[in-house]
Amino acid sequence: MPERRTQIAIIGAGPSGLLLGQLLHNAGIDNVILERRSADYVLARVRAGVLEQTTADLLDEAGVGARMRREGLPHGGIELSFAGARHRIDFRALTGKQVVIYGQTEITHDLMDARRAFGGTSIYEASDVALHDFDTDTPSVTWRKDGVEHRLACDFIAGCDGYHGVSRASVPASSIATYERVYPFGWLGILADTPPVSHELIYSNHERGFALCSMRSPSRTRYYIQCSADDSVDAWSDDAFWDELRRRLDPQAAQSMITGPSIEKSIAPLRSFVAEPMRFGRLFLAGDAGHIVPPTGAKGLNLAAADVRFLGHALIEALLERSDAGIDHYSPMCLRRIWKAERFSWWFTSLTHRFPDTGAIGRKLQRAELEYLVGSRAAATALAENYVGLPFEVEAASHP
Ligand SMILES: Cc1cc2nc3c(=O)[nH]c(=O)nc-3n(C[C@H](O)[C@H](O)[C@H](O)COP(=O)(O)OP(=O)(O)OC[C@H]3O[C@@H](n4cnc5c(N)ncnc54)[C@H](O)[C@@H]3O)c2cc1C
Repeated sequence: MPERRTQIAIIGAGPSGLLLGQLLHNAGIDNVILERRSADYVLARVRAGVLEQTTADLLDEAGVGARMRREGLPHGGIELSFAGARHRIDFRALTGKQVVIYGQTEITHDLMDARRAFGGTSIYEASDVALHDFDTDTPSVTWRKDGVEHRLACDFIAGCDGYHGVSRASVPASSIATYERVYPFGWLGILADTPPVSHELIYSNHERGFALCSMRSPSRTRYYIQCSADDSVDAWSDDAFWDELRRRLDPQAAQSMITGPSIEKSIAPLRSFVAEPMRFGRLFLAGDAGHIVPPTGAKGLNLAAADVRFLGHALIEALLERSDAGIDHYSPMCLRRIWKAERFSWWFTSLTHRFPDTGAIGRKLQRAELEYLVGSRAAATALAENYVGLPFEVEAASHP
């Protein structure tokens, strides 16, 4: 069996794995990425698009932020739509911060380009990836490629392989606790080359269900409508999607919206999920491998970046400074931030979606809370500071 050695074996070439690989390389730490899909497949996945300021700063720190700064769209607020009118939540006025609209696909592109430029090893289409001996000082990973089995010895394994990956599944059930809520609906999303209906995101609470008008650039829109959990993309023509979206927006947005053929259409289930802890000997989980949020609060990619920030620093400390302090604190540090983002994502989802089981009183309570939000600076500030991303100092201050 062909064998080689690296310092960090990274499972998964999504944003978590690629960003971790970049931070480690910048610190002079050798790493190999193993990905079960092809690079083209990974690049074709349309997912997140809202970056917290801290995520944008981390891309700069990793040396891959230049295009994001050039082409990303800084947004200083969002609009909440309910009862036929829109109300702006002004992030800059309330928190002094903003978010950046820049697609996950573009981040992945930038990270892949950077990795190619420094000659980093990424093995795509690696099948049957298996993790071994991560509870010892000599962990390793095996995989199969083109019919040949390979082995990689390493110091640590970073499980960045998403919710369905092999890393979390390799941990004995008795060593891990999981917490999960599956929401009774999904999001039907389309991507279209049409100008956005508004220059900021519109989150709409409507009798017919939630809608979100988002974007990827000044000429590319990403729109979503709440759909039933068992809905099928084939049941939705483009026209049916646009008609339903218009019904869920205020009259001005509905009238001015420019429609066009979809270039991607998909349904995403909504789930809250956390696995605890995130470290198992020499294996660390990061990103969606450890937690999932419903996308309402735009936290999935940002949480993944926060994990990678902690993990990158911890591994650099362990390998270059021979200190275990960072890796010992990795799991509790991440989980404190994760649970806050889980709470926010659950709350924002509960506020904006139509739930089949909460009935008329649920709708009245949502309406009262929305009116409170747009009428109270304190309530609006709580939304804004969570949406733009809680400062890392909050975690640092409570570091044991
Ligand atoms: C359909 C969808 C829509 C989303 N929309 C939003 C959004 O609007 N806003 C938001 O903030 N977040 C959104 N998210 C969440 C966001 O995209 C994720 O939080 C983010 O991708 C996490 O990055 P990651 O690298 O941790 O995981 P992933 O991006 O899932 O990457 C994991 C990688 O590991 C690979 N892999 C899996 N198993 C193996 C294996 N056995 N061996 C080797 N490789 C493996 C996968 O192919 C993948 O490339 C969405 C997610 C999905 C699925």
